[in-house]
Amino acid sequence: MHSAIRLACASGLAILASCADLASASAAPCVGNAQGLGVARTVEIDTTGAPGFGFEHYKSHDFLEAGEVVLTFDDGPLPSHTRTILKALADHCAKATFFPVGKLAVGYPEVLREVLKAGHTVGAHTFNHIDLAKAKDELAVEEIERGFSAVKRGAGLPTAPFFRHPFLRHSKATLEHLATRNIAIFSTDIDSFDFKVQSPEKIVDTVMKKLEKSGKGIILMHDIQPSTAKALPMLLTSLKGKGYKLVHLTAKDPVATIARFDQSIEDSVKGLPAALDTRPTSSVVKTVKTTP
Ligand SMILES: [Zn+2]
Repeated sequence: MHSAIRLACASGLAILASCADLASASAAPCVGNAQGLGVARTVEIDTTGAPGFGFEHYKSHDFLEAGEVVLTFDDGPLPSHTRTILKALADHCAKATFFPVGKLAVGYPEVLREVLKAGHTVGAHTFNHIDLAKAKDELAVEEIERGFSAVKRGAGLPTAPFFRHPFLRHSKATLEHLATRNIAIFSTDIDSFDFKVQSPEKIVDTVMKKLEKSGKGIILMHDIQPSTAKALPMLLTSLKGKGYKLVHLTAKDPVATIARFDQSIEDSVKGLPAALDTRPTSSVVKTVKTTP
């Protein structure tokens, strides 16, 4: 973007649409849907030292240009709603970041793999979704690490070193631990409060009004909420209509999980299918002639 325009956008002197249009002149077209939101910009995050994102808590890295938004979904995967959300994103050629809960990731590995296959970024959001600010330090660390190990087990490969605290509540211990692990921490700029609202229209309204004020931001939603699944097609259309541009977050390197927590997950999911065991049972097990 031209520096004078950038300055004008940053200082709020220019109208949002102009800023957004200029910010993403190179946005790739959405094949099959001319009105699709698409991805205007992909950013790669070097998570060394646990950088924090989302101005509700962390204000050090202001990487979004005026008019840019990031879509994030927490608490999944759940087959029905996560798949509805994947369909809406695919219809708009849109990419998002998912923060799954570990126990659901190992429970629904096939859904998690669909998220990855569609090109979205996957981080983690603890194993049991407990409030880490209230937990003893040792348990908080275990929840974080078992979350990443479970997501890796469900996905079949290590995912992004991106973490969001349940209820957006951190502690000194969790921040210190994440720093030693080089895991980026995500809060939010635009909280949709979709878990409190039944009406899809109200969710869209809440997000768009907050965006009008801030002009950009990381949007927090939940892929386990039926109202969010219903709202998303409307929200993506509204974002496109108002000229907002979508930024896709990716990680420079995958997360390095810790062996003893990987083992802890293996021990607790005995009997569940391995993530990469995609061969149909008929090709693994077949009936042969019984020897008398
Ligand atoms: Zn959550």
